[in-house]
Amino acid sequence: MHSPAVVWHSSLLSYDFGAGHPFNPVRLDLAVRLARELGVLDGVSLLVPEEAEERDLVRAHTANYVDAVKRAPEAGFDVGHGLGTGDTPVFANMHSAASLVVGSTLLAARQLAEGRAKRAVNIAGGLHHAMHDHASGFCVYNDCSVAISWLLDNGFDRIAYIDTDVHHGDGVQAAFYDDPRVLTISLHQHPMTLFPGTGFPGDVGGSGAEGRSVNVALPPRTPDSGWLRAFHAIVPGLLEEFRPQVLLTQCGVDSHDEDPLAELALTVDGHRRIYQELRSLAEQYADGMWLAVGGGGYQLVRVVPRSWTHLMATVLDRDIDPHTPVPPIWMASVGEAAPNTDLPVTMGDGAPAEFTPWDGMSEEPVDTAIRETRKAVYPLHGLDPNDPRD
Ligand SMILES: [Zn+2]
Repeated sequence: MHSPAVVWHSSLLSYDFGAGHPFNPVRLDLAVRLARELGVLDGVSLLVPEEAEERDLVRAHTANYVDAVKRAPEAGFDVGHGLGTGDTPVFANMHSAASLVVGSTLLAARQLAEGRAKRAVNIAGGLHHAMHDHASGFCVYNDCSVAISWLLDNGFDRIAYIDTDVHHGDGVQAAFYDDPRVLTISLHQHPMTLFPGTGFPGDVGGSGAEGRSVNVALPPRTPDSGWLRAFHAIVPGLLEEFRPQVLLTQCGVDSHDEDPLAELALTVDGHRRIYQELRSLAEQYADGMWLAVGGGGYQLVRVVPRSWTHLMATVLDRDIDPHTPVPPIWMASVGEAAPNTDLPVTMGDGAPAEFTPWDGMSEEPVDTAIRETRKAVYPLHGLDPNDPRD
């Protein structure tokens, strides 16, 4: 088995809604440059993606919608399908750029299916809001849904999708809501307080797939300790029962305290801990098969580059100590582009990133979320919602 696969090419920076839009591809460029400066990518042959073909796009989207995306740059204001909105404005080459994102996650999935790697990472992926026939929340095509569908046709019939983005992974959940072969688990800020307003604990999957959709609705301001407590109280028990053949994780980092679009309160140290936990779960329950993609993250300079450097390092088993100084060369190049930004000096935020396991007895603010989700889905998996050993 070869070493983990890393998908990256600067052409992925073409997925760009333009100046002033929060989903700015500079975050990917800064992450890759930081990873390079720290030696994370030394000796790694980066896999260069190609645009996904239409026959793969229609795994997750209607042909009608794909046509609308193609026509959008010339279509004017009435293109519909969620395109041309403030969230998802139209840009030249939108179809090509979005197809390339899908192609990049498909390339990562192919490495696993074809036995070339057991782990793969694609920080450009993770466009989890895109729906069957419309764009949503900065997402045109849903690379996660396309990759899961492709894996289901290429040797896998039990796939676990774990979404750690601050927003509900609504597009992926919708795509597989009635499919018992896919377990989707999304931990997100409570839908009453954040876009897209879905992802309630009671949404557990459609007929024949009850319990296969899992939603953990976290209260605003949840810190590392609460997030990790909820994750441990819910996710390992479900994976032990579901026994996935592959773990696909959406690793959005807009859960950070400094993210401008949401109100959770995680740290870069917390993100690093999450990636280590996901790696352990893949080893323990999915025979080591782990495909990690990016997602949201709008603190472009202070958060995304460090967190996704940790993601790539974790996938490659090259874990970086959070006390490691941020390389001066990286700081100098960023300082030129963003002269007024207070740059981070180490690879962590100085947070402990620890938690107290849920025991069903003591009470923390996040425990309401834990109880609601366990109550909704644990019995559907033959597990006891009140027994912390499950
Ligand atoms: Zn998000």
